Amino acid sequence: MHHDLLRDVSFWLFLLSVDRELAEATRKSVCPCGGRLHYANYLRKPGGGPRELPKQCRLRYSSCCDRDGCRKRVTPPSVRFLGRKVYLGAVVILVAAMRQGPTPRRVRELSKLFDADRRTITRWQVFWREHFPETSFWKIARARFVPAIDVAVLPRSLLDALVGTDGDREGWKLLLEFLSPITITGGLDIKVCR
Ligand SMILES: [Zn+2]
Repeated sequence: MHHDLLRDVSFWLFLLSVDRELAEATRKSVCPCGGRLHYANYLRKPGGGPRELPKQCRLRYSSCCDRDGCRKRVTPPSVRFLGRKVYLGAVVILVAAMRQGPTPRRVRELSKLFDADRRTITRWQVFWREHFPETSFWKIARARFVPAIDVAVLPRSLLDALVGTDGDREGWKLLLEFLSPITITGGLDIKVCR
């Protein structure tokens, strides 16, 4: 089941290895000023993970330009952190999805499982249903899905389409990699059409 997987440390170590590859690709790129990038990682305090989440799983990979006067920070996409959201990305997806569908789990049960209060869970649902469909990312990416994704039941519809009901880690990798462009600064911006 999905929630068992997300409570499993090995799942987060697996996603950490995916993030390491994404970070390495970014670090090898060149700063717009022409400078070289080097690692400038930092630790986060993510919510919703298993209690015994190893310290390295809290690491947010990031890079920094080595040129004086620039020092621009370039943070790579991630399959663990959903932008500035405190909770781990997979948790933000799964809990909102579990509130939908044929057997919606009670808020109290979800709050306990993932250590998120009612208001937080409601915020996530608003995010998926109202904010996410308006992003430039989604307006382009949705064309990939045949049949089309039902935005009225996001993120459940995305979870069903990319991960399925059993919830194996490769499926989650697919979903989280698909969403990774929204995890960087500006990735959730809404383009206003005039
Ligand atoms: Zn630079």
